[in-house]
Amino acid sequence: MTISSANIQFNEQGTPVAVDFDDVYFSNVDGLAETNYVFLKNNGLPERWLNCESPQFVIAETGFGTGLNFLATVAAYRHLKKAHPNHTLPQLYYISTEKYPLTKKSLEEALARWSDFSDISLQLLQQYPSFLPGCHRMSFDDDAIVLDLWLGDVHDTLPQLSVNQHGLVNAWFLDGFAPSKNPQMWSDTLFENMARLTAPFGTFATFTAAGFVKRGLAAVGFNVEKRKGFGRKRDMLAGTMPEGQSRKNIEKAFYRHAANGNLQQANIAIVGAGLAGANVAYALARKGLASTVFGKQNEVADAASGNTQGGFYPQLGTTFSIASALQAHGFVYAKRLYQQLLQQHAHFPHQWCGVLLPAYTEDVREKYSKLIGNHTWPIDLVRRVAPPEAQDIAGIDMPYCGLFIEQGGWLSPKGLVSVLMSEAKRKVGTAFSGNATLVNLARDGQQWKLQWQHGEETRADIVILATGAESLNLPVFSELPLGITRGQVEFIPTSETLSGLNTVLCHKGYMTPKYDERHALGSTYFKGDPHCQYRYEEQQHNIATHQTAMAKCDWVDALKGDATGRAATRCNVPDHIPLMGSLFDAEEQRNQYQTIHKTGFKSHNHSRFGMAKSLENLYTLTALGSRGLTTAPLLAEALVSQITASPIPLPVNVLNALSPNRFLIRALSKNEAQ
Ligand code: SAM
Repeated sequence: MTISSANIQFNEQGTPVAVDFDDVYFSNVDGLAETNYVFLKNNGLPERWLNCESPQFVIAETGFGTGLNFLATVAAYRHLKKAHPNHTLPQLYYISTEKYPLTKKSLEEALARWSDFSDISLQLLQQYPSFLPGCHRMSFDDDAIVLDLWLGDVHDTLPQLSVNQHGLVNAWFLDGFAPSKNPQMWSDTLFENMARLTAPFGTFATFTAAGFVKRGLAAVGFNVEKRKGFGRKRDMLAGTMPEGQSRKNIEKAFYRHAANGNLQQANIAIVGAGLAGANVAYALARKGLASTVFGKQNEVADAASGNTQGGFYPQLGTTFSIASALQAHGFVYAKRLYQQLLQQHAHFPHQWCGVLLPAYTEDVREKYSKLIGNHTWPIDLVRRVAPPEAQDIAGIDMPYCGLFIEQGGWLSPKGLVSVLMSEAKRKVGTAFSGNATLVNLARDGQQWKLQWQHGEETRADIVILATGAESLNLPVFSELPLGITRGQVEFIPTSETLSGLNTVLCHKGYMTPKYDERHALGSTYFKGDPHCQYRYEEQQHNIATHQTAMAKCDWVDALKGDATGRAATRCNVPDHIPLMGSLFDAEEQRNQYQTIHKTGFKSHNHSRFGMAKSLENLYTLTALGSRGLTTAPLLAEALVSQITASPIPLPVNVLNALSPNRFLIRALSKNEAQ
């Protein structure tokens, strides 16, 4: 599942042309006027934004190409905002899908033509993703506009979009090359997915008036009209999805939950002030929603997220598995977020020095060869390095080949958590409440009642448990196979040799470049050990791990600790995939799904079992293991999208794999649930 770039040339008029399709990206005559007429005007835009009752408006496009339609949409949105300064416009989501993305260089060249759009083009170029299949979420105009660019064939990407009971898409820009030049795209699967995703009264517009397109869209429920085409073109098509059309749902019912929608007045409590909690608070703030974050101590990031240096890189496998895809997308999303925070002058200790993964055994070397040989990952995400280059990168003796993740590095989890909290406070007034250990959680009318160890109570409409290892103490998690793992990290003093280390080393353990004259060196993993005191023998263990794995390096014998370090516990689950989503009533779901082992789990008629009965307005983001720096931002964004019924930047199969009720559903499907 690799993504190939577009094969593009510019004709005499300077219009980009797709060589393989023998078609232009936009009209030679006036591409922008055509976009404004066909896609915006014929979808009733921008006027519909003024009358939009929902907090968000969703556009979906087939074929991102040069992004001209996107730029024109942003310009129309900005124009409307300027003309109606006192009107609250909906947040604009622009979902686009692209099989053959332009390289950044070609995109830059294509966009240079639209000088009026230079600042939005620059924002797009700065965030333009590497060619990793799946969704890349980018944000514009202080989060007023969100672009979800799904890389992949429309037939693969649209079925991956999750839709709740309200529908998703309000307007379709049905672009893509002319049906005669690109018949593969204009298929029944496309039309069926459009119908599946369209919200009541959602519209579409397309430049083509081809009969089979008209019939295909009518067959899936759209009221289709032939309208006057742009310029010299005689006709085009546009239409509306009437209310009450039943939508075929291809998502597994057991993992679908009723979505909430407008939360502007909601009182939101987040329990846990580590990476998970702070990222959720920040993602809510980006949508204009304030929350209160409750932490066990009187400062944030006191537990597993409390280290001063943490390695930042994705753990990639040899294939595009769910776990690896989550790591890769989590990583690129997190990097974009961290850079945006730094551009906003927020400060947290960090160094984008790359992460070097030396192949320290023959097995590891083979695995890395396969990882590169499979071409699963874009070269700007991970590449192979031979010993001379590895040594240059490391800055200290490094006689191993390996992998290099150039965009990685280290950052301070504690510093990041503080920045996320203060930015959320600055944006919407998000609050922190310390010394709060949750002991009980109970429904009280339409709200949740949170009881704290110090005896006080808090009421909230929505509760998000980002409780890490503390989750094991909460009855609401008792049905989940949570485990605890102790990890100790050393902060060893630097030395003349070690101070040359220029990158994060990651093998069986990890070591960072120096910060405050010390290197972070970790980590132990002791399953089931809930204690957090520092242990001298684990220092020896950590150092021995490095000495064994990096035995060929001339500096390993110089590794010395001085019993300075930190231990914490982490929450994990047997499949090592985090928990994200609605918490559930196990009793209810056992009744609801008790017979799925007979018919429902794999068959397409699972919808008859109904959407999963969840504990209303109770969610979790936890079990991030030791990977929170990589995965927490994207998972928090996805959770907030789910809670607010917005487009979710993760594919359905990944959402299902993250769903907290997955263990129960798997057991029920095998008829093994107690
Ligand atoms: N909307 C674009 C713009 O504003 O520049 C122009 C789109 S161009 C006419 C058509 C785009 O559809 C191309 O970028 C092409 O690579 C893409 N495309 C063609 N077939 C596709 C498919 N099956 N899945 C996804 N994208 C496809």
